[in-house]
Amino acid sequence: MRRAAQDLLIGAAFSALSGLALLALSKVQSARAPTATISPSAASFAGEPGPDKVASYDIDAKLDANAHRITAHETIHFVNRSSATLKELWFHLYLNAFKNDKTLFLRSPFGAGRSGEKAHEYGYIDVKKLSIVGGDGADLWPNRDRHSPNDPDDETDLRLPLPSPLAPGASLSLELTFEDQLPEIVERTGYTGSFHFVGQWFPKLARLEPDGQFAHFSFHAQSEFYADFGDYDVTLDVPEAFRVGASGTLDPKPAAHEPGRKLLHYLAPNVHDFAWTAWDKFETRSERIAGTEVSVLYPPHHERNAEAELDSVRFALPHFNARYGAYPYPTLTLVHPPEAAENAGGMEYPTLITTGGPWYATLGGGHFIDIVTIHELGHQWFYGLVASNEHASPFLDEGLNSYAEAEAMEARYGMGAVFDGFGLSVSSTALNRVFSAARGADEPVAQGAADFASFRNLGAIVYSRTATVMATMARVYGEERVARAVGDYTRRFRFRHPGPSDFMAVMQEDLGADAASALSTALFARGTVDYLVREISNAPEPSAAGVFDGPAGRQKKKPDAPHAIGQYAGRVVVYRHGTLELPVDIELTCEDGTRQRQHWDGHGFTHNVDYAGPSPIVTVSVDPEQRILLDDDLSNNWVSTKTVRAPRVFERGLYVAQLLLGAVGP
Ligand SMILES: [Zn+2]
Repeated sequence: MRRAAQDLLIGAAFSALSGLALLALSKVQSARAPTATISPSAASFAGEPGPDKVASYDIDAKLDANAHRITAHETIHFVNRSSATLKELWFHLYLNAFKNDKTLFLRSPFGAGRSGEKAHEYGYIDVKKLSIVGGDGADLWPNRDRHSPNDPDDETDLRLPLPSPLAPGASLSLELTFEDQLPEIVERTGYTGSFHFVGQWFPKLARLEPDGQFAHFSFHAQSEFYADFGDYDVTLDVPEAFRVGASGTLDPKPAAHEPGRKLLHYLAPNVHDFAWTAWDKFETRSERIAGTEVSVLYPPHHERNAEAELDSVRFALPHFNARYGAYPYPTLTLVHPPEAAENAGGMEYPTLITTGGPWYATLGGGHFIDIVTIHELGHQWFYGLVASNEHASPFLDEGLNSYAEAEAMEARYGMGAVFDGFGLSVSSTALNRVFSAARGADEPVAQGAADFASFRNLGAIVYSRTATVMATMARVYGEERVARAVGDYTRRFRFRHPGPSDFMAVMQEDLGADAASALSTALFARGTVDYLVREISNAPEPSAAGVFDGPAGRQKKKPDAPHAIGQYAGRVVVYRHGTLELPVDIELTCEDGTRQRQHWDGHGFTHNVDYAGPSPIVTVSVDPEQRILLDDDLSNNWVSTKTVRAPRVFERGLYVAQLLLGAVGP
């Protein structure tokens, strides 16, 4: 999903700009197919090894668009791929997050996540019956726990004891009937008028880890998702006038339907979730891009946004394919929700992303449509294909994806990646740096989503700080090297649910021990750094004076007049505050315009730069190219004996972003 922080800064940037009467734009918000077969080993998929399928779903769902209710029948094909015998299953019923104000999600003190709004109309999911396919037909659902663990007010994470143990390698099919009442859109999910966005809508198994533990968790306002791969076979029954977008690929064969209705059959193999949208007002465009059939569903009068979104995919899909491994699915669907349902925007699902923004979002100099499109597209790799645990390690998805987004935006637009107009350009990197510096020392990057003190901290630290850490690594250790390392990670761990130690192992291998050590400190130990220089000691080299013993005996030398020998001696001490040891360059500029560079490996607390030359040092600049974006204070990286104005210390956009942040706070 999109970061709250970004929304905030964009909002702030716009208010500041409109305050300057430069711009008057508002913020941008950010008949069934054969039953899926499960082979015991990983199937081949798009010419490469596919995922180990653990949980596959066949769902028939019927939407009552007036009551905003869905009645459905679901079959879950489950394989115990763990090493343990299972005595229970864990179900995520995340639509129950919106059942009442006491749920874990809605009682959150931070407001309901990014929307900051409570539900207006509540939503919930009722399982009517659950039985084992091929069993005695007994309803097992009454055997479930009634609430989430240790939380009597929450029903999003429920344990179901199995009637008999399931041995490693054994499989089980379950048959369920359920009903959804959709909420008015709270966050991501629900309806507004006749617009429906249907996510987290069906009874879904928690991810089964290899040791036999289910990675189950209640739906928390700060957390996203984690699930096993499988095949989804979903038939949607909707009113005939509605246009539908969904994960996977539409089976072109029309199915029998009641008058006034239509049946749409979608197949989404090798994914870990399924979401869909239905609205009677959608306009659509589609185009083949880099071998993928890309569709955009958008509201009337949003043609410019649809074109901007397609154009972003034209750039970013091949860009990400080359960097992070080829997108393996035949389709990609973009959904631009209507403005009244903006909280459904800026979200990722397998093969389907939501964008968002008012009809005029592409006017002016902002690239907000491009940012949201490229950000959500990037999730197809980090969330969709790599599929790490977003609850336990959100930085592996949102953080690395924010790095990928910024890199792609800057590859496309350069320093004006976020905003470029009216003589002002703001880059993604500059923006990330500002948020990262503001809150980076508060909490570690690598911690659970629900552990962050606030949604804004999560935004600043998980999204912006991870992006800034990775951008720093790229600038210090080489853009191509770091890009290749992240690409090695996304390729090696495609479909494999890696954790932080998997990520670090690839970084260590590709970037070396020193870089991995700094990266580890930055991500796991609240590492900070501030390089600074305080003063320049600089004096004419004195001529030799005093008593000297030599082959010719003892001689006394008297001092010559000052400057007589035209040599200067100087020393500059560079200090490193904080715990991050990153190599840095130090540049001396002398009065005669000559420059000298020295390199410090960053180890130790201080580094002496000794100088001798014909012209006095006038300026010292630590990290003159601003490679170390994690440097907490850039204003102390520079000192001069001549002028108080720092030359090229601030990238202009960075400076502007810092001013804005000073005005509004993070
Ligand atoms: Zn995101």
